Amino acid sequence: MKVWEQPVGVIGAGTMGIGIAQAAAQAGYEVLLYDLSEAALLAALGSLRGRLEKREAIGKLATGTAAAVVSRITPVTRLELLAETALVIEAAPEQLTLKQELFAKLEAVVSPLCLLASNTSSLPITALAGGLQHPERVVGLHFFNPVPLMQLVEVIQGLRTEPRTVYLARSFAESLGKTTVLCQDTPGFLVNRVARPYYGEALRLLQEGVADVGTIDRLARDGGRFRMGPFQLMDLIGIDVNLAVSESVYRAMYEEPRYRPHPLQARLVQAGTLGRKTGRGFYRYDD
Ligand code: NAD
Repeated sequence: MKVWEQPVGVIGAGTMGIGIAQAAAQAGYEVLLYDLSEAALLAALGSLRGRLEKREAIGKLATGTAAAVVSRITPVTRLELLAETALVIEAAPEQLTLKQELFAKLEAVVSPLCLLASNTSSLPITALAGGLQHPERVVGLHFFNPVPLMQLVEVIQGLRTEPRTVYLARSFAESLGKTTVLCQDTPGFLVNRVARPYYGEALRLLQEGVADVGTIDRLARDGGRFRMGPFQLMDLIGIDVNLAVSESVYRAMYEEPRYRPHPLQARLVQAGTLGRKTGRGFYRYDD
């Protein structure tokens, strides 16, 4: 059941933003999807429609679902159009000042009761809320990639987040059919705290020549029963996004060596080979 009748805002039409918008629209919410460029919005909506139509064609979705879901997502390039929303979830790049500025601008637009949620993987919710007039309505809602398939959502309570905010954010995620876990505002929260050494150790194994990418991934899948190996997962997440999270957790942990990011990952980012989204990362996705 929906928590509100008002629309939900989503900021950023990248990998996560479009996934969150889809999950909310499928649960019946009207979604206002904001991004800087109209082209990015139209491309994201076009590819969402294509994916849903493919599932319709093979009988995995009822006919008409693609059109219905996409019609509930309105692309916008002006933040003022989010004025009537009950909740805004930002899924913009993993940069503290960028997200802080976005929340400050949003605060001038939405009502004081509107919840401001961040999909950040690693930045402190308390710091995102710090300079705001109403820090009590800021919360972490950390979805996982790909959003429509991944069941878990971490709900993160910042130092000044009110229980009402946590309750409503949690209820919202559950209204999308997700399972929530409540976390305190610690670097990497729960899942990324566990995941950083998973990627880091795989990168070290590769650098030392212990095994190649395919072998390490196969070991994780066949031996560890993971759905994807660490390199497949980095390619799916986006190597740039994954590196930004690694750097952020490392800094937040006061440079604890266990969380040190790996130069190999930085080199791939410098080369523009970011994983699936650029057709090349640890693997190639030519077709
Ligand atoms: P992405 O690079 O795919 O998308 C980011 C989007 O934000 C782009 O469409 C870009 O145009 C837009 N954008 C850039 N600057 C903006 C601004 N100032 N205002 C509004 N939009 C702006 O990134 P992503 O992978 O979707 O990650 C977004 C957030 O979600 C990050 O905080 C990331 O850490 C987090 N996250 C990512 C994953 C993942 O697997 N990719 C998983 C969980 C959480």
